[in-house]
Amino acid sequence: MLEFTEGNEDVRATLFVEVILPLAISKTYTYRVPNAWNDQVAIGKRVIVQFGKNKVYSAIIYRVTDQPPGLYEAKYILDVLDDTRIVEDTQLQLWEWIATYYLCRLGEVMQAALPAALKLASETKIIAVDTGLVDRSELNDKEYLILDALDISPELKVSDIVKLLGQKTVFPILKRLFDKGLIMISEEVSAKYKPRMKAFIRLHGEYADNTGKKLLLESLSKAPKQQDAVLAYLQLARLNPDAAKSDIMEASSCSAATITALVDKGVFVLEERAISRLDGEPIDVSGDFTFNDAQSKAFGEIKNKFEEKDVVLLHGITASGKTQLYIRLIEEAVAKGNNVLYLLPEIALTAQITERLRLHFGNQLGVYHSRFNDNERAEVWHKVLNHEYQVVIGARSAVFLPFQSLGLIIVDEEHETSYKQFDPAPRYHARDTAIYLGHIHGAKVLLGSATPAVESYYNARAGKYGLVELNQRYGDAQLPEITTVSIGEESRKGNMFSYFSGTLLQEIEKALAQQQQVILFQNRRGHTPLLQCKTCGYIAKCIHCDVSLTYHKSSGKLHCHYCGFSEEPVPVCPACGSTHIESKGFGTERVEEELESLLPNARIGRLDLDSTRGKHGFDRVLNAFDEHRYDILVGTQMVAKGLDFGKVSVIGIINADGLINYPDFRAYERAFSLLAQVSGRAGRRNSSGKVIIQSYAPSHRIIQQVMENDYVGMFMTEVTERKNYAYPPFFRLFKIDVKHKEQQTVHDAAHRLAVLLREGLGSRVIGPEVPLVSRVRNNYIYSIMLKVERMGTSMAKVKELIKSTLLNFEANKANKGVRLQIDVDPY
Ligand code: ADP
Ligand code: ZN
Ligand code: ZN
Repeated sequence: MLEFTEGNEDVRATLFVEVILPLAISKTYTYRVPNAWNDQVAIGKRVIVQFGKNKVYSAIIYRVTDQPPGLYEAKYILDVLDDTRIVEDTQLQLWEWIATYYLCRLGEVMQAALPAALKLASETKIIAVDTGLVDRSELNDKEYLILDALDISPELKVSDIVKLLGQKTVFPILKRLFDKGLIMISEEVSAKYKPRMKAFIRLHGEYADNTGKKLLLESLSKAPKQQDAVLAYLQLARLNPDAAKSDIMEASSCSAATITALVDKGVFVLEERAISRLDGEPIDVSGDFTFNDAQSKAFGEIKNKFEEKDVVLLHGITASGKTQLYIRLIEEAVAKGNNVLYLLPEIALTAQITERLRLHFGNQLGVYHSRFNDNERAEVWHKVLNHEYQVVIGARSAVFLPFQSLGLIIVDEEHETSYKQFDPAPRYHARDTAIYLGHIHGAKVLLGSATPAVESYYNARAGKYGLVELNQRYGDAQLPEITTVSIGEESRKGNMFSYFSGTLLQEIEKALAQQQQVILFQNRRGHTPLLQCKTCGYIAKCIHCDVSLTYHKSSGKLHCHYCGFSEEPVPVCPACGSTHIESKGFGTERVEEELESLLPNARIGRLDLDSTRGKHGFDRVLNAFDEHRYDILVGTQMVAKGLDFGKVSVIGIINADGLINYPDFRAYERAFSLLAQVSGRAGRRNSSGKVIIQSYAPSHRIIQQVMENDYVGMFMTEVTERKNYAYPPFFRLFKIDVKHKEQQTVHDAAHRLAVLLREGLGSRVIGPEVPLVSRVRNNYIYSIMLKVERMGTSMAKVKELIKSTLLNFEANKANKGVRLQIDVDPY
């Protein structure tokens, strides 16, 4: 028989692929496919391509076509990286929506969407995974060579490996090594996710009394490491007789072997325990729980509203048991074979919720957030792709995972501003993106909050979303009683002790006497935010930014919170030589320090960006507080994030004024949310709670509304203001930042841009203005704000106009080197 098709290469069509490169370029790029690979290319797979002079990237196939590009001659793709697609059509659809809605590039969306390990580029770093145990005889020459090189230098760039092997494409080899678990691919190596088992150490009963301890220490005098470990244990055991093995190792810098030796000797008793935050609490959420009447009613309503609406807003006060409603809804969706995405604003929260959800969903629950290392993120990606997870809990970027049959998306604490990505592009809002994601999948979206965003509540009232209210705390828990303290008045009466009023101190002491816990909120981190010379007025400022430097006691340095710059504090004014340097303002470190001297017996912990860095930062602090190893937790807005602790009976707001008097149209709304959310941490289970708000203006409307728990009142006043002053939800905002190293250049360019924009948009263009912080990382900034009315306007047309104006601007030689940054729906 004659074969007509086999081997008859020239009848095969010439194919081209349009790819998305992980770069901020406006267009997709087209490459030619060698005939032999025609069957292998498909949308959503990665190919390796050269772009620019000698940079190589992995790019995502966006389209397969037989049309060559019109304007340039297509280069060949260098390789096809995947056997099966790693990006789904629904994801590409979401990427397109983000690029259009947020006026950014597909490549930028791809950058944000793919975990580093899935987007190789010449600059990507390769790190060896502990290769000691691997049988290298299984490897081929090239793989061997790479691992060999990694023995010598633990970190290599892809471009180094290109040189090492003398070939252009090394990605397939790296992919093999990665799949075998021998290398890590990374932009940054970060900490591993916390295991759920934890080893605890107790001292053997024999050494319980002081003589026993003394004899034990003496007997270990020849083994100084073991002695150190025992000393570290004794120190830690003051807080809790069961000390974590890891804490002992950290405190004494001893090795696991030292601990093992002590266990073998019978000095230490070791116990492996699965740790749950709910341990020790009387409430058992595992398996069965039953709703109370209010919950049942809300649950029924949510399901009814979902019959008609795709999005429902659950407005439920703090500790009303919203999480339990979520769990039931998730169970039902899973039972129908659907996937569920559970979004949380902040990783600080995920541990607590993950523990609760694990009780219900076990291994079918995946977790995805930025403190995972890149390999772990790639692993989650693949598990979602392969349907191994039914429920994924994650922060913002989890909206990018390759879901295939989403049935339900929950956006918990939907009002949180951390759902919005500030930098870099795409500057997307995960709640709004989730709503679109739900739309693509035909999934239902539940937004939940005790203090919904004004926009969301407006949409719910307008009938765009379904609205369900839950106005009662679960169980016997009551909303806390809120009182205010006038700082001014108390100072005059001599009733302020450092930053604390007599009233607050008394309540703290009462709580501690009753074995209860206290949370204190101060919305600044560090020790002293401002150092000013009393003689000449000089202020210590960052050399790169127009920002005052904050003194941090923990580092002993002055830090810039914008760019990370730090320097040693100087005892004399650099400008006039005076030694009268005054501290102004105070942050969490200072609150902690003052409290330590006022209440020397209290055990105080701190929850802010500085105290939670590194591996299990959040978990460490939150666990310690949950296990009552701290009496008082001092923190920034991190303490307001929906945490559930059983024994908190007093909350103190050290100073509410900073929150309220902030020049932003959302300031009141945000102050209300923060104060209501922080207050909501008190009295969550049975016991009642007290909240004390200290302020110079305690009769301020917002504080009054917080006291009366009057969300709707706050909403009504805000909506009126927003309507009057042309803000969302009535107007859509676009913020354009113009940046350059030279102030004059940015001034001129910003004015030119404003003129151009006014040609099409007229009085909708506000500015340019110098923002509050006018220089960051040596770049001067001017901001232009566009306010576009939503009624009767085609946003698509407005966006087209903005886009073409910006292109126009960039094409003008006078604007060369000026950078534009656009933020749609800025926060
Ligand atoms: P919210 O998310 O609304 O702030 P939570 O879901 O955290 O409230 O509930 C507050 C507390 O009440 C939690 O400790 C939770 O375990 C408990 N709780 C809520 N509903 C139930 C229920 N139906 N059965 C048992 N415990 C519940
Ligand atoms: Zn001076
Ligand atoms: Zn700086």
